[in-house]
Amino acid sequence: MRFGTKTIHAGVEPDPSTGAIMTPIFQTSTYVQAAPGDHKGYEYSRTHNPTRTALQKALAALENGTHGLCFASGMASIDAVVKLLKPGDEVVSTNDLYGGTYRLFTKIYEGFGVKFRFVDMTDPANVAAAITPATKLIWTETPTNPMLNIIDIGAMAALAKKSNALLAVDNTFASPYLQTPLDLGADIVMHSVTKYLGGHSDVVMGALVVKDAQLAERLAFIQNSSGATPGPQDCFLVLRGLKTLHLRMQRHCENGQAIAEFLVAHPKVDKLYWPGLPTHRNHDVAKRQMRGFGGMISFTLKGDRMADALKVLAGTKLFSLAESLGGVESLLGHPASMTHASIPRDERVKSGLADTLIRLSVGLEDKEDLIEDLRQALG
Ligand SMILES: *Cc1c(COP(=O)(O)O)cnc(C)c1O
Repeated sequence: MRFGTKTIHAGVEPDPSTGAIMTPIFQTSTYVQAAPGDHKGYEYSRTHNPTRTALQKALAALENGTHGLCFASGMASIDAVVKLLKPGDEVVSTNDLYGGTYRLFTKIYEGFGVKFRFVDMTDPANVAAAITPATKLIWTETPTNPMLNIIDIGAMAALAKKSNALLAVDNTFASPYLQTPLDLGADIVMHSVTKYLGGHSDVVMGALVVKDAQLAERLAFIQNSSGATPGPQDCFLVLRGLKTLHLRMQRHCENGQAIAEFLVAHPKVDKLYWPGLPTHRNHDVAKRQMRGFGGMISFTLKGDRMADALKVLAGTKLFSLAESLGGVESLLGHPASMTHASIPRDERVKSGLADTLIRLSVGLEDKEDLIEDLRQALG
């Protein structure tokens, strides 16, 4: 099956008891057993739920994996990956990382004796230099948030393999429509399903997809033991959202390109970060590993005044000021004071995250309206 067909058919079958074409919301915590242990594969909904099973299969198919696992949030799915580790184990990660991931790593897991090294992963030599015999996990995110850096997944996979570490890729910004890390050698793909996969800003959820049965079993054990699983209603909403993923992503890419081209030519814009522009520093890697460049754009304003950025943020009418991304509606945010406020300022600035940086999640509206909105807000 090709991608668009999979978004509609993978994992879902007409309900055997009624023929319902859409997977029902199995709003049940438990399942009747004919005799102890004699059941239909479902015992308790933390462990298994048919609505969740359908979604997990659909996500596995879209990422070209064999096993999918859904969690109550993107953070819960990252948490499950770190729980594969033991005290003394080391993780090499990108220095341009989703703020919540950085917080989980440094504020929680460092306290449990796991060591994290943050490096600029756009140069694989930095990663090679940070790997030690204790390195058990390479954690990467590409495109990165909010700097839209592109990390070479194939190069990370080669380093992980050489050092017997797992490679996990946060694929939230790309979605499997644009990039399938398992095909490039990754062991684990992670998603904040909240974003493009759900796509309608109405669900918080996370997911992991793997292609190895033993790793899937270890993660399923953690999923069930820790218990951060999503409810069936949310799984239904994501199954519904997935059916248009390919169409939505096409439009996100098209609108993203139009807005990147508008902004790059605007006299008030200083730097523009969108991997589809030939001037983007990692454009070649992006072209190699992605099938399109998405709707996430960051830019800075000329001068260095945070007040100028705040004026733009207050001036848009269609772009709403909000955290999150990947929904049908356009959003904008100010990473320095919102999503990335938990990263110390000097570390933020070092990775290019200026006080005037504005991040756009370009939605599915008519691009002419979006451009008019930005033009008037930039004044
Ligand atoms: C939102 C996000 C997360 C966290 O996911 P939640 O669903 O909010 O818990 C992780 N990584 C990236 C890149 C994100 O954008």
